[in-house]
Amino acid sequence: MKDVTFPDGITVPALGMGTWNLGDDDGRRKAEIQSIQLGLDAGLRVVDTAEMYGSGRSERLVGQAIAGRRDDVYLVSKVLPSNASRKGVHDACAASLRRLGTDRLDLYLLHWRGSVPLEETVAGFEDLMRAGMIRAWGVSNFDVDDMRELARIASPDPCCANQILYSLDYRGVEHDLLAYDREARIVTMAYSPLGQGGELLRAPVLRRVAARHETALGPATPAQVALAWVLRQPDLLAIPKAGSPAHQRENIAAAALELTKADLAEIDDAIPPPRRKVSLAMI
Ligand code: NDP
Repeated sequence: MKDVTFPDGITVPALGMGTWNLGDDDGRRKAEIQSIQLGLDAGLRVVDTAEMYGSGRSERLVGQAIAGRRDDVYLVSKVLPSNASRKGVHDACAASLRRLGTDRLDLYLLHWRGSVPLEETVAGFEDLMRAGMIRAWGVSNFDVDDMRELARIASPDPCCANQILYSLDYRGVEHDLLAYDREARIVTMAYSPLGQGGELLRAPVLRRVAARHETALGPATPAQVALAWVLRQPDLLAIPKAGSPAHQRENIAAAALELTKADLAEIDDAIPPPRRKVSLAMI
């Protein structure tokens, strides 16, 4: 599996695990925990959650899934913009750590921009780093203008990641943001890479390309092609959410799926790349 290296030198596999909506349904809880554990057993490391997800339910489920194996995990959570003041960041992080049953996050992100000045949020992140509560910080849903503004803020530690919407449904970032992040040595974390399991996975082009490939689990699926397509980008980490071990296995197998030039050209034909600036979309 491909790796990505954060600006602070930490290297992780390019496939991680999303957790939005996990923990919301008691009937699915067991399968959701097994899904995360299967991912870790297979060598995945990044688990992405947020205080917002299920008002803490996702963080609690992640805490249960990683109990006793914290060192296997590169743990990411996010602070809501409404909590992003210097003191608010501290209190929100402390609450996330309690729910997750750990004493540190590997990466803490501002979920999206709000009304708190960026300087203040960054100062809050730096306080957390000094206190050992987080190992690195980053942002989410930042377009190129936001990233430029962030780059002007002096801070001892670099912004390590920008978590953004990137899938075949939303290719706009190929125009500029992916290149901006790469040149700044900031890891792009692609969220909703499977189009949230919706219409995208029924795209005829994905079915056609899938029919030409085999994976370790048998014939490739449209979801595997959609994920392999996102993972083809260098310096990018994809965080699909798999609520079952079966989906997790499929996604892991997709990380080894290499799309050919002909596959990529056929996909471009059906779903063209952007020709001009498209503002960053968010879900
Ligand atoms: P995804 O694109 O990851 O899609 C998840 C959906 O796809 C679920 O319905 C899941 O079903 C299904 N699925 C997973 N694997 C497969 C498979 N192999 N075949 C078919 N269907 C599959 O959407 P998300 O919105 O969940 O994005 C991923 C993660 O990104 C989130 O969980 C969250 O951690 C993060 N995120 C961050 C945001 C931000 O603002 N920073 C915004 C949105 C997401 P099932 O559950 O049954 O497996």
